[in-house]
Amino acid sequence: MIIDLRSDTVTKPTKEMLEVMLEARVGDDVYKEDETTNELETKIAKMFGKTHGLFFPSGTMANQTAIKLHTNPGDQVICDKYAHIFNYEGGGASFNSGVSCKLINGNRGMFTAEQVIEAINPPDFYHSPLTTLVEIENTTNKGGGACWDFTEILKIREVCDTNNLGLHLDGARLWNALVEKNETPKDFGNVFDTISVCLSKGLGCPVGSVLIGDEKFMKNAIRIRKILGGGMRQIGYLAAAGIYALDNNFTRLIKDHNKAKEIASVLTNCSYINNVELVETNIVIFSLAKEIDETKFIELLERKSIRISNLGSGKMRIVTHLDYTDKMHDKLLETLKTLKVG
Ligand SMILES: *Cc1c(COP(=O)(O)O)cnc(C)c1O
Repeated sequence: MIIDLRSDTVTKPTKEMLEVMLEARVGDDVYKEDETTNELETKIAKMFGKTHGLFFPSGTMANQTAIKLHTNPGDQVICDKYAHIFNYEGGGASFNSGVSCKLINGNRGMFTAEQVIEAINPPDFYHSPLTTLVEIENTTNKGGGACWDFTEILKIREVCDTNNLGLHLDGARLWNALVEKNETPKDFGNVFDTISVCLSKGLGCPVGSVLIGDEKFMKNAIRIRKILGGGMRQIGYLAAAGIYALDNNFTRLIKDHNKAKEIASVLTNCSYINNVELVETNIVIFSLAKEIDETKFIELLERKSIRISNLGSGKMRIVTHLDYTDKMHDKLLETLKTLKVG
């Protein structure tokens, strides 16, 4: 039994999910003739109260398309220093859209409306890049699964309206925030111009993200997806997994959060731990006591069939997910409590 807690992307489709996939009605999605993909896109768009949804092979491509929709080359995007679009999309913002990022020094990947105001370049000052987009991540990945305060998001929306800026949400793990904070997709649909959501993380699908927005932004999205090489054919098999996951794997995310919180509380009492960051959803970020070597610590756990991630700069990460069973959880907690380190 390998306990893989490196990421919530390591899940494999269940038999039930695979059966639904096998039964999917499919067609050529480049001609928009794939019924199941059309159904998934409409379903998610409706959940968020938007007119359009578009299926993508990855969250990265969905975010990159959103950036392109909102900007022109030379523009500047405001985001947190921890943002996935800045740190983990291969430099795509500059590669695909020719934009730069103005990084906000936020708190666990989140920032305030006040900080956005400070980050906007005056539009008539032609020496600096034109600010055109604000990007928010919820939950924050590098910020340890933190959930935004919704009232701050509303204030940022006002700042965007006043300054004529687009507002994009990287909602790769928005599902986790929704169940944790008792919020609805429509709350977010009302505020953001575009939203990307992942099906392949907590929801347990093998592939897929969906970008959502209204006609005004989304009318060009399919062209940009084509340019990025994301036009696909009989993808109803994948979309069927998404429909299944939304109906069956969404509300259960709370179980992952409870397990993550239990792991955090055990870690807090371990002598080899320096600090455990606040856990709100399914991500636990912690650091080791000074004298302990991180690589050796990971190897030690590996020998006990436990896999976790080293994020660098002294941070370790555990992510709970659908395939992390109660039995694995018991074994992990016991192992952490009795681990002889150093
Ligand atoms: C995983 C993730 C994405 C998308 O990543 P892909 O691997 O391209 O699907 C985007 N944003 C955040 C915050 C993520 O955690």
